[in-house]
Amino acid sequence: MSSGQRALALYDGLIFDSTGRQPFRGTVIVRGGEIADVGTRGEVGVPDDADVIDLRGAFLMPGLIDAHTHIMGSRSGRVEEDLLTPIGVFFARAVRDLEALAEAGFTTAVDAGSIVALHLRDAVAEGTVRGPRVVAAGPVLSQTFGHADVHYLPAEWVDYRTTRKLTPFASLLCDGEAECRKAARYAMREGADFIKVMASGGVLSQRDRPEYRGFTLEELKAIVDEARAANRWVHAHAEGKVGIVNAARAGVKVVAHCDLMDEEAAEEVLKAGATCVPTFAVDYALLREGQRLGVPEWGMKKIAELADIHVENIRRAHRMGVRLATGTDFSGGVGRHGENAEEIALFVEKVGMTPQDALIAATRNAAYAAGLEGRAGVIAKGALADIIAVDGDPLENVRALTDRSKVKLVIRGGEVLKDLLRQG
Ligand SMILES: [Zn+2]
Repeated sequence: MSSGQRALALYDGLIFDSTGRQPFRGTVIVRGGEIADVGTRGEVGVPDDADVIDLRGAFLMPGLIDAHTHIMGSRSGRVEEDLLTPIGVFFARAVRDLEALAEAGFTTAVDAGSIVALHLRDAVAEGTVRGPRVVAAGPVLSQTFGHADVHYLPAEWVDYRTTRKLTPFASLLCDGEAECRKAARYAMREGADFIKVMASGGVLSQRDRPEYRGFTLEELKAIVDEARAANRWVHAHAEGKVGIVNAARAGVKVVAHCDLMDEEAAEEVLKAGATCVPTFAVDYALLREGQRLGVPEWGMKKIAELADIHVENIRRAHRMGVRLATGTDFSGGVGRHGENAEEIALFVEKVGMTPQDALIAATRNAAYAAGLEGRAGVIAKGALADIIAVDGDPLENVRALTDRSKVKLVIRGGEVLKDLLRQG
């Protein structure tokens, strides 16, 4: 399990490097957690001290990235689950969920709001928990009467700073620029890698709607300014048009969901250079299993209204050239971790992407949303050694990635998390 200086040679794979180059038969050399060399078998020699994994032509690609998820140990869609279940149980389940993500080929998970993920990030980094690298927002910023203001609780219990009940999902309620700046600073004080804001209403919040504005443009600009001042970025939940446009104009790096992104809103996202993470997988998980999992009637009604228009809008955005990245919005309850590659298949089946573009969306594009552009999501010299080997060709059949048993090898930052090749 050591990522020491001894080299690892991934020998004779079909390499899809996510840079746009056509797949080629070759070898990757890993050393010190990074990719030391990559090229055809003629170009790259195997060092004498290397451990060799013979890939025998297996499909080699960058590790998968879920650019918007919630690792919080949920097991239902009931709003009361957070209040009825002890916090330790959520942590134990989330450890399982991280293992399932690694098994499925995920080497980075961007957590868009969860205290559990914020803490487990460090447990993964120190090697205690086997899972993808976690990039975590921690507590999320919401206006009063916003998507993350849990209205049926006293407001001081909703706010992470004053609650008496630690729950997996926690909010920082803030209104006006000064409070928004303070909340952003508080999230970073807690260890947030980036700031998550609720820029519009949503589906699983009873008293608002996706088209409602969350935060004013000035409030969003203040939050973006605080994030940038600390070398961080903002990831916005934005379903309605006003929220998407405001988020783009404020300079957020990631706009999530984008259900009601019309042509004008997509133009703003394009102009801002933001990455859109549409999270289709949760739409279909809700439609398929929401009722059984106890999602309230009002939530089921809203998602049924949105699902088709969501697909139409993202298809147009794709044609316009908006950068799309895969994210599931899975929580472990609605959407099971380990099935996260479903989003990649939905990019092909719903958005109409080529498998090649969908693979790039799940790696190089998703690395943008993780703040790891250039560092992860590509197989290139000097990048982090996040690499998977798949039995089958996902460019022929993208569903090769949704079958966990076909993911034979998973390496994160040079650490081997899964290896079915040498175990036969
Ligand atoms: Zn989310």
